[in-house]
Amino acid sequence: MHRILQDKSLFRPHCLINGQWRDAADKSVLNVINPANGKQLGHVPNCGAEEARLAVEAAHTAFTAWSAKSPQERGAYLHAWEQAIHANLEDLARLLTLEQGKPLAEARGEILQGASYFPWYAEEARRVSGEVVPGFRQGVQALTRHAPVGVAAAITPWNFPMSMIPRKVAPALAAGCTAIVKPASATPYSALAMAELAMRVGIPAGVFNVITGSAGAIGSVITESPLVRKLSFTGSTPVGKTLAAQCGPTLKRVSLELGGNAPFIVFDDADIDLAARMALGNKFRNAGQTCICANRFLVHKDVFDAFVRRLLQGIRELKVGDGLKADTTMGPLINAEAVAHVDALVRDALQNGACRIAGGQAHKLGGNFYEPTLLTGIKPDMRIFREEIFGPVAAVMSFEDEEEAVALANDTEYGLASYVCTRDMARTWRLWKSLQYGMVGVNDAGLASAETPFGGVKGSGMGREGGREGLLEYMETHYALLGGIG
Ligand code: NAP
Repeated sequence: MHRILQDKSLFRPHCLINGQWRDAADKSVLNVINPANGKQLGHVPNCGAEEARLAVEAAHTAFTAWSAKSPQERGAYLHAWEQAIHANLEDLARLLTLEQGKPLAEARGEILQGASYFPWYAEEARRVSGEVVPGFRQGVQALTRHAPVGVAAAITPWNFPMSMIPRKVAPALAAGCTAIVKPASATPYSALAMAELAMRVGIPAGVFNVITGSAGAIGSVITESPLVRKLSFTGSTPVGKTLAAQCGPTLKRVSLELGGNAPFIVFDDADIDLAARMALGNKFRNAGQTCICANRFLVHKDVFDAFVRRLLQGIRELKVGDGLKADTTMGPLINAEAVAHVDALVRDALQNGACRIAGGQAHKLGGNFYEPTLLTGIKPDMRIFREEIFGPVAAVMSFEDEEEAVALANDTEYGLASYVCTRDMARTWRLWKSLQYGMVGVNDAGLASAETPFGGVKGSGMGREGGREGLLEYMETHYALLGGIG
């Protein structure tokens, strides 16, 4: 690891609690593995309940002074943090690729995309005005203002270990909250590098804390503590449901960004070249390990062959390998369990009548690499139609008309992202209303941005990240009624 980074101090094997770099009290550690070659990169503290309690106390103590700063003062720290990320982009990208596996170009893109949340929320927090509400009775005046909720905790996944931090922490800190982050155990170094940069730009002690270690123990302290007023979780639907239930007794604000089962609908009036390019980028980015990856391609029967042909062409051009190599366009999956999960879905589909057009097995590179795969003849009773694939498998089926496409698309417990390829504006409008999803990308799959509200419905969770909505997730509305004023 040290050989690969120019600035070695970005490789932080300690947690940050109250401005101090710390080990676990019992000195236990978690090993971190490079998914591209199975080699150990290093280890991080295996913290538990004790360190989580310290982090909660630190964040609670720091809240008073941090929330008293003006939005401009807090914003200045966030702008500086963004600049520090830009200045260290190459090292951060290498760190991300080493622990997560994605190609360097994708790693750079993730980091820059994540960094863009800092200036957006630094500025957006200056515009959170309250209201003077028209009097509803003689002699009274009503006012509202927005206040930070308090200590905010974030639990993040391994698939976007860098960008998940600013998506949650930028609005939290901009709003006046203090934050505790528990990153995924597979990819803790990205969060710890972000903590190092936070220290360098002078974010006050206790305002931003990162603890690695036992998910259950840390999660229990965070969710049970009455001092923590907000939990923002990104990860799987089962863990999200557990955490939401744990937050019940203390009635915390909860945001859940959970799993998806995105439909990608290609109509017969679509630009098929554009649809295939969009499908390729959306499906195989991060080796298919994104919550908004297309899970089911629904293609009109009249353009089915043309679409599959073009998608196949793009798949054949993918270069699978170690993300650090310049020509790699698809890296490994995160670990052996992920490979086994993807392969089980492919086997189930093939046994139940799907047709293998490309790939369909572990890659000859071995380890965590899987072949970019294209299957047709997908049916709703196959596991691959119902479950989140989270791997490089394009599962394609045909439909006859719009009504059938919408029914197939909505036939899932999830509701995060959906995609539509069409040139018909009336159809676009109809589908936006009839697709039961938090987001729809029409002829464009680049949904995530600091400016727009990202999030799902149904089993994909609640709450939004990005946009004005993302800031209000960390604020409460306070109302004052002024009487006796004539
Ligand atoms: P995961 O197993 O749910 O883990 C996510 C995070 O939760 C990790 O930090 C994990 O810690 C922690 N965690 C696990 N069990 C916990 C518990 N009992 N208490 C407290 N924390 C706990 O999910 P994943 O496999 O890392 O991520 C993939 C999932 O995330 C997919 O379903 C994907 O769709 C979803 N995702 C959703 C979005 C979105 O915006 N909707 C974005 C990205 C990913 P450890 O690593 O230490 O176990």
